[in-house]
Amino acid sequence: MLRGIEDSSHTVDRTSTLPVHRIGLLDVPGLTHGITSRTPDLPLYGNMSFMVGDAPDLVQTNREAWAGAIDYDPDLLVLGRQVHETTVFAVDESHAGSGAQSVETSIRRVDGLMTNVPGIPLGVMAADCVPLLIHDPAHGAVAAVHAGWRGTVDGIARIAVARMTDAYGTEPGDLTIGFGPSICASCYQVGSEVVDRWQHGPVSTTADPVRVTSDGLYFDLREANRGQLIAAGVHPDRIEISDVCTQCSNGAQFSRRGLGPRTGLFTSIIMLDDSSRIDQGRQS
Ligand SMILES: [Zn+2]
Repeated sequence: MLRGIEDSSHTVDRTSTLPVHRIGLLDVPGLTHGITSRTPDLPLYGNMSFMVGDAPDLVQTNREAWAGAIDYDPDLLVLGRQVHETTVFAVDESHAGSGAQSVETSIRRVDGLMTNVPGIPLGVMAADCVPLLIHDPAHGAVAAVHAGWRGTVDGIARIAVARMTDAYGTEPGDLTIGFGPSICASCYQVGSEVVDRWQHGPVSTTADPVRVTSDGLYFDLREANRGQLIAAGVHPDRIEISDVCTQCSNGAQFSRRGLGPRTGLFTSIIMLDDSSRIDQGRQS
């Protein structure tokens, strides 16, 4: 068994009324997921990040409050040090809690985390970028992926699926994928470098996320990720995209564009429950 999980002293506050954002398609037995939000009910509006200059003890308070609301052990949370690249890291029992208490212990230089170990919550931070939560119910595996524009044009969504196939035998047609809140196509004005890298990058898809207007160029991050997932074999009706825009949602979410570079970050969490275990002999 996974040490630290079954004997954890963590208790869950089931009375929490914090506004956890959930994806309907991921609301299935054997899976825990939830997305934190920006709320005056918590210090720092519920910021989850140590990296934006906020008091660490208040961030830790928030991490415990959100863990209670979503129902996972905050001491086991795994986070990556996201760098807008395309590395997707395989998390096992030895990584449980990496990044839970400090930035220093997080998994370095990764923008995606995946695991087939029940009981380990994977988190991805965002504040305009697209957070992807991926579930393979057939093979008992999950992933949490950060897709900003660089990761998107470099194909991190497609890469995450391929990594799950290599590691867990995942077939794209089995996947269920939720996109958390992100900046919408109407808000995301970009420079020509984004369009250039999209058009000349490695992603092959029929999706056309670029819009040219008299105001300039706009890029649909959601469609660019959705398109590459469908091209990889994911069913269109197994992808659910939150329509909450981080920038134009009237402050319901953190937004770098809307609130400035020192704004907080929200976290999208996914975890296999112990009941989801299909490979009974693996940890004997
Ligand atoms: Zn918007």
